[in-house]
Amino acid sequence: MSLLELPGRDAIGIRANNPGPFTLSGTNTWIYGREPAWLIDPGPALADHLDALSEEIDVRGGLGAVLLTHDHADHAEAVPELVRRFSPVPLAAARGRVSTLLADGDELGPFTVIATPGHSPDHLTYLAGGVAFTGDAILGIGSVFLAGQLAAYLAALKRLRALGPVLLAPGHGPVVRDPRAKLDEYLAHRAQREAALVAALAAGLRTRAELLEAAWPGVPGELREAAALTLAAHLEKLGAEGRLPAPLPSA
Ligand SMILES: [Zn+2]
Repeated sequence: MSLLELPGRDAIGIRANNPGPFTLSGTNTWIYGREPAWLIDPGPALADHLDALSEEIDVRGGLGAVLLTHDHADHAEAVPELVRRFSPVPLAAARGRVSTLLADGDELGPFTVIATPGHSPDHLTYLAGGVAFTGDAILGIGSVFLAGQLAAYLAALKRLRALGPVLLAPGHGPVVRDPRAKLDEYLAHRAQREAALVAALAAGLRTRAELLEAAWPGVPGELREAAALTLAAHLEKLGAEGRLPAPLPSA
């Protein structure tokens, strides 16, 4: 477990000990403010992680709400135990069995809610005090996998850039101190994948395996399935824009 600072903010990141190909060095749980504090993404249900969160919440004078960026297990598994410990604390997210259903533009405590679909359909980013808590929409290192809604995702990245956060507090990896550069990097990365995919289609490649090899060269085996999902999201976007050449790509 390690701690992350948000310079100039009364907030802390507590990283869970669940490293992996998708979680990098672990899931970051963020605790913001005090009396009450607000918690974003409880993370995995690991006893030492839950104890560290509880201790920090107690020091900060209680919990206003638990907020989820999205409901993947590495962010949400500890929800039941955390909610039990701090009952009757509200649970807020974009879907599921929650006490507060959130959507784009909502306000909760100090946060403004920004819908950032793509990694998952329910994905939200929370903005407070110039910090964007980005979950898996933007990571501290590397890129994210996208399960669909690529056009909406790119639009959300551009909106976020226009909102001008000073710091990004991601679900995995370090704090991003230059959000504009990171958002530009993410937009450029997606544009680069799209250009590679369009070139591969123009060269006559049509199977998903061929397209993956051409546009995601050297993707490690453990990330191949995620890259295939992202490929599908790119194909869906090109299709919606009428940019898929005949014959259409096959499985
Ligand atoms: Zn995650």
